[in-house]
Amino acid sequence: MDIKKKDIRALTKVQLRDFFETQGDKAFRGNQVYEWLWNKGAHTFEDMTNLSKETRQMLEDHFVINHIKVDVMQRSSDGTVKNAVRLHDDLIVESVLIPTKTRTTACVSSQVGCSLDCKFCATARLKRMRNLNPDEIYDQVVAIDRESRLYFDRPLSNIVFMGMGEPLMNYNNVLKAIDKITSPEGLGMSPKRIVVSTSGVPKMIKKMADDDVKFKLAVSLHSAIDEVRTSIMPFNATFPLADLREALVYWYEKTKNRITYEYVVWEGINDKRKDVDALVQFCKFAPSKVNIIEYNPIDDGEFQQARSEAIDMYQKVLEDNNITVTIRRSRGKDIDAACGQLANKE
Ligand code: SAH
Repeated sequence: MDIKKKDIRALTKVQLRDFFETQGDKAFRGNQVYEWLWNKGAHTFEDMTNLSKETRQMLEDHFVINHIKVDVMQRSSDGTVKNAVRLHDDLIVESVLIPTKTRTTACVSSQVGCSLDCKFCATARLKRMRNLNPDEIYDQVVAIDRESRLYFDRPLSNIVFMGMGEPLMNYNNVLKAIDKITSPEGLGMSPKRIVVSTSGVPKMIKKMADDDVKFKLAVSLHSAIDEVRTSIMPFNATFPLADLREALVYWYEKTKNRITYEYVVWEGINDKRKDVDALVQFCKFAPSKVNIIEYNPIDDGEFQQARSEAIDMYQKVLEDNNITVTIRRSRGKDIDAACGQLANKE
């Protein structure tokens, strides 16, 4: 690949129009190309059949179209599909299609590897790391939408940013991708069907609230006690719970959008009554609900799913305090497609 050529999909529609004008052509060609790229998903300039041969060649001389490629697709016995997605520089990320009776959810990645260091997550162990571009995020969604139509006869209904990476550490590109996903020129999906999941970067949560975003927010809490949280999510030392709490209150006041706390209960780490009590207190700061997710082991046995008595205790105490709690079972474990298992094993 010629690295001097620019990825054409990094250009906005206005920039494309300007480009054609500087070439002495009509600005509306920019609209045509934009439509090819985003509505019709063209992979080559050759595909753009309403442009002259000369125009297509001219584009070829200036730009590349860096499409992702689904390298390996694995299907789980429970219907979950995992894509290993090859990027233009040969790095790989993973995305997952999770079907239920009524929905198809895409779980997409926002970074190659992750900038954070959660002890229980396989992605944190990857060495290579870069942010994904908006089109690399968008393409993952388009690929899963296609698979959903093919295997389940229906379009994609929901998106969660719970694949590899910390979306708020790649905020601008995630936002651009979501713009494309929700725009009528892209997939036209409602932002209410999109969840951005973060480990909790206070400054960025406030920024999202200021930007008046319409998607939903999930926070991977796992403990409401600083000491415990820092031991399993070391960046909590930099962004302690008091700062997170303040940002979440700010988020709720601005957006009036309820927050979801994701929470894994591990044996001997956060399975005691004091852990539940701290969570109950934390939940009172802003309207919220709790998703207790099953732990998906990542090889070394340092962490273990808590016993069911501990999960039952969480459920009871939360419900007694009028906090909505759901207990989620993992999907796609047999193909390492469950939360925290994405790490390009192949
Ligand atoms: N960085 C973002 C999104 C990616 S992780 C975030 O932290 O929210 C998606 C979810 O999977 C998070 O809630 C994360 O805490 C959880 N997770 C990570 N490793 C896990 C594991 N081994 N088992 C179960 N859940 C895990």
